[in-house]
Amino acid sequence: DSPVLTLGETMGLITGGRIGSLAHVSDAHVGIGGSETNVAVSLSRLGVPVTWIGRVGDDSLGRRIVREVRGEGVDVRAQVDVDAATGLMLKELTGQGTARVYYYRAGSAGSRLAAADVPAGLVENAALVHLTGITPLLSDSARETCRSVVGRARAAGVRVSVDVNYRSTLAPAHVAAEVLGELVGQADLVFGSPDELAHVAPDGTAPTDDRAAAADIGALVRALDPGGTREIVVKRGADGATVYRDGVLVDAPGHRVDVVDTVGAGDAFVAGYLSGDVHGWSVEKKLARANACGAVMCTMPGDWEAAPTPAELDAFLASGGDPVQ
Ligand code: ATP
Repeated sequence: DSPVLTLGETMGLITGGRIGSLAHVSDAHVGIGGSETNVAVSLSRLGVPVTWIGRVGDDSLGRRIVREVRGEGVDVRAQVDVDAATGLMLKELTGQGTARVYYYRAGSAGSRLAAADVPAGLVENAALVHLTGITPLLSDSARETCRSVVGRARAAGVRVSVDVNYRSTLAPAHVAAEVLGELVGQADLVFGSPDELAHVAPDGTAPTDDRAAAADIGALVRALDPGGTREIVVKRGADGATVYRDGVLVDAPGHRVDVVDTVGAGDAFVAGYLSGDVHGWSVEKKLARANACGAVMCTMPGDWEAAPTPAELDAFLASGGDPVQ
C-alpha cells in the first residue's frame, strides 16, 4: 500500500495537572502534539501506512517527538534543525472538558520547514497528501513547502486533502483568508468547521456573517466549490458532520458521549475519514467512521493518545455509541 503523506509542525505539550491557571498549578504532564502528527497516529492505529515530514530542534522535546510518533508506527522523516528549538504548547485546564492553549512557536524548528525537506518520490508515490491550514501560516518557507508539495501532488495525480484548521493567532484574518483560500482552491478534499469554511470562501461568495454561514451549509459549500469538483467535509462538533460531493449533501449525526476533552476530536475525525478515502469507501461509510473516531476521542483526555483502533471503534459502536437522533 502507498502511504498517506502529511507534513507540519509538532510541538512539546505541557498540560496542567488540574483545572486552574498555570500561574498557580504546579503539577503538569509532558507530551507532544501537532495536528498533522495527531492525524498520522490516528491513521496508523487504523492500519493505514503513513509518513510524516517535519523539523524538530536538537533538544529533548524534539527527540521525544521523533520517538513517540515513530513508536506509533508512523514513518517519521524529521530534519533536526540545530539553529532553532522545538516549539511548545501550554495547555491550561479551564473546566470540565475545556482548556486554553498557549503557543511558543515563533521561529521554532518546526516553522522552518523547507521544500527541500520533502524528498523526491515521497509526494509522487503517496496514496494521498494531507496538509493543514496551520503550516502555510508558520513562515514563508513553510508556505513555499505547501505550495511545492501541492504542485507536485497535482502533477503526479495524487489526491490532496486540506484541513483548514484556522488559527487566528498565526496571521491577521485577511492574510489567512488569502493564503488558506489558495490552499483550499487546490485541494480535492477539504475539511473545516462552518466558520472556517466561511472564512476561506472566495470574496463575496459566502454569507458574510459566520452564524448565517453556519445555518446554511448548502450555500457555504456551493460558494467554495461552484464547479462541483471537490469533496467538502463540514465538521459540526457534537452535531456530527455534513459532506458535499457531486452537488449532493450528505448529513451524519454525531454520537452522544460523556465529553472529557474535545481537543483532537477534529484530527481523529479527519483520520477516520481519510482511512476510508484511501480505500475508496462511500461518503456515508467514511462519515460514519469519522464521526465514531471523533466521538471516541472526546471521551478520553489527550490530543491523540486515545485514537481508536478498528476493534475499539467496533466496541464503541456495539456498546452505546448512540447516534444523536
Ligand atoms: P478540534 O480542532 O478541537 O480537534 P474541530 O473544530 O476540528 O475540533 P469538531 O467539529 O469540534 O472539530 O469535531 C470533529 C468531529 O468530532 C465532529 O464532527 C464529531 O464527529 C466529533 N465530535 C466533536 N465533538 C463531539 C461531541 N461533543 N460529541 C460527539 N462527537 C463529537
